[in-house]
Amino acid sequence: MTGPSSPLPPASAGAPPLRDRLGRPPGVLRLSLTARCNLACPYCCPDAQDPPQLLTLEERVLLVSEAAALGFRTLRLTGGEPLLHPGVEALVAALRPLREAAGATRLEAIALTTNGLLLTAERSQRLRQAGLDRLTVSLDGTDGASVARMGGLRGGSAAGDRALATILAALDHAQSAGFDPAEGALKLNAVITRGRNDDQLLPLAALARQRGIELRLIEYMDVGNRNGWAPEQVLPAQEMVQRIGERWPLEPVGRSAHGTAARWRYRDGGGSGGPGGSHLAVVASISAPFCGDCNRLRVTADGVAYSCLFAAAGLDLKPWLRPGPDPAGLGAALSGQWRARRDRYSEERQEQTLEGAQRPHAEMAYLGG
Ligand code: SAM
Repeated sequence: MTGPSSPLPPASAGAPPLRDRLGRPPGVLRLSLTARCNLACPYCCPDAQDPPQLLTLEERVLLVSEAAALGFRTLRLTGGEPLLHPGVEALVAALRPLREAAGATRLEAIALTTNGLLLTAERSQRLRQAGLDRLTVSLDGTDGASVARMGGLRGGSAAGDRALATILAALDHAQSAGFDPAEGALKLNAVITRGRNDDQLLPLAALARQRGIELRLIEYMDVGNRNGWAPEQVLPAQEMVQRIGERWPLEPVGRSAHGTAARWRYRDGGGSGGPGGSHLAVVASISAPFCGDCNRLRVTADGVAYSCLFAAAGLDLKPWLRPGPDPAGLGAALSGQWRARRDRYSEERQEQTLEGAQRPHAEMAYLGG
């Protein structure tokens, strides 16, 4: 889907709230700042180069402000590796008026997902001062060999040890800068693949418990076309919970509306307080999909909007951004795309109603997870 032919008019004051064809409201805008990454995780397969025509800071601010006016209340900055982009802090600062706005155009939170390799003490402080609310740091193992394997690092476990030390220091820097894990402002993400790093489950849980950080365990997903995904490589969330629960007994907290993660609490009180007392979270998009209340829209670094992580095609928003901005047209394009949305890929995969589960998807590095 490309071009400025928006199928439906924009939502306006007094109009019914924006809903897609399955009745789902908008909520989270995931904005990729770059498709490039400083890791080469084999489950993600990022690019070495960005696509041409990256959006400018002004274009991103306009996009976020139109999205906020439609009901996207949370912005998550992602990539590729978003901290490779030198303008992250400037973007977060430029969005401050939207964070401070009253009423229906207000952006309630800005979050960022990073592998932590560039999260120095200074960068953490700059991000916090600019107005970043939450940080999620991705880490798939607690020893050099696992980190190197999962991060696609050349140089084996020595390279992995160095990366691990940098990422652990990044967690300290983030916390010192004010990203408080007990407030849910600092979390850890780990993708678990069977046979590749499932031996890291308990060490990762121990690390997160020791640091009081919520650990979010993500099932390996069939995103993109490059990672050679196969169902037998998926470790189902239920098994992750069972294995960790055998060591540290767990009780369910539940899944918040529109959330991706089912949350658990350690019975011994270990780990993070977190909002709602969550200590461990599992994202079961393969074994227990949650398309039914998905409220996420993804926009690539070059301004193509995808209404599903598993979509094959998106809507190019640049015609409403260039050569000059057309805010009303952009708002209409976004609301039209949302109203037309009926994606529920993960549920269809599970129901096996897909014509071939291996249909083409856009790559993870473009969509940013
Ligand atoms: N570079 C940043 C990072 O490492 O967090 C942001 C982008 S990355 C694509 C966002 C998240 O997607 C990371 O937590 C990553 O582990 C996860 N991810 C990437 N490919 C995945 C896959 N095939 N299945 C599940 N999660 C995946």
